[in-house]
Amino acid sequence: MTARPHPVPQDIYRARRMIAGHVVRTPLVPTITLSNDAGVPVHLKLEHQQVTGSFKLRGAANALLSLDPERRARGVVAASTGNFGRALAFAASQAGVPAVICMSKLVPGNKVEAIRALGAEVRIVGTSQDDAQEEVDRLSAEHGMAMLPPFDHADVIAGQGTIGLELLEDLPDLETVVVPLSGGGLLAGIALAVKSANPRARLIGVTMERGAAMHASLRAGMPVLVEEVESLADSLGGGVGLANRHSFTLVRDLVDDVVLVSETRIADAIRFAYRQEQQVVEGAGAVGIAALMAGLIERPGRTIIVLSGRNIDMNRHAEIVSGQPAEATRA
Ligand SMILES: *Cc1c(COP(=O)(O)O)cnc(C)c1O
Repeated sequence: MTARPHPVPQDIYRARRMIAGHVVRTPLVPTITLSNDAGVPVHLKLEHQQVTGSFKLRGAANALLSLDPERRARGVVAASTGNFGRALAFAASQAGVPAVICMSKLVPGNKVEAIRALGAEVRIVGTSQDDAQEEVDRLSAEHGMAMLPPFDHADVIAGQGTIGLELLEDLPDLETVVVPLSGGGLLAGIALAVKSANPRARLIGVTMERGAAMHASLRAGMPVLVEEVESLADSLGGGVGLANRHSFTLVRDLVDDVVLVSETRIADAIRFAYRQEQQVVEGAGAVGIAALMAGLIERPGRTIIVLSGRNIDMNRHAEIVSGQPAEATRA
């Protein structure tokens, strides 16, 4: 595998031209309730309204369309059952490129169907994510299919960074941008775009208290393994990869702070988004709201909160939004 350099701001401008017409430009809207509560102007980037239900389409489309034509024609393959799998399946079918998403027998039927409906071939192999990954490796080695990872890839990061360009256009004097964080592709991309135009802007990553791999890795000074635990923010699960090449370094160098939110706070934020803003947001997508409501963003100034996804089981969502909110810790 060739060692590729880290993405630079120019790659993000190139990504924007590449994915134009394949993704939608999502709205940035002021939120009056959160602004009043925080005492500063707060805007929401409604990226959960992106096609396929998450921002992942930006990076997937950019990585796919950036492959040279012969390589692309042989197809793409991935082991993601979540938002990246959905995004890649859709981007590939739109581009007329074969896509195979590998998953284990344990993946629930509704996830399998969702990915199939987006136009990908689903291959069920073995009983673990490792078995699925072995099939991905085999397809890549034997058939030359391109293996695209969900975050640690220069073109994926550049694609996610196009969100940053939109934020700068819509709110040039932004001061703080609050971004959900797992493997760091989203945060690295946005940070690269925003800081290159406005070095004084603050970039804050938010993740769940339990199983926060990037947070633990930043503390350790290198990528480390953490135990995976269930969370309402299921799209934030998983490690950063011990052989991480891009996202760890970019997050370490560009990001001002990483804060952690509890499961109760995430539930409150899903409920808040629905009741106050009429937005259906999944747990991972709501962590920025959770952090602001918990008072974890210090001296926020003009703030943007990125809502990153909406793929939540709607029965689960109904339960959460009809539950009782936890008490606020702030007056
Ligand atoms: C993948 C994902 C994230 C985290 O993105 P990373 O690039 O892995 O940090 C956040 N929110 C949602 C909805 C996601 O699907």
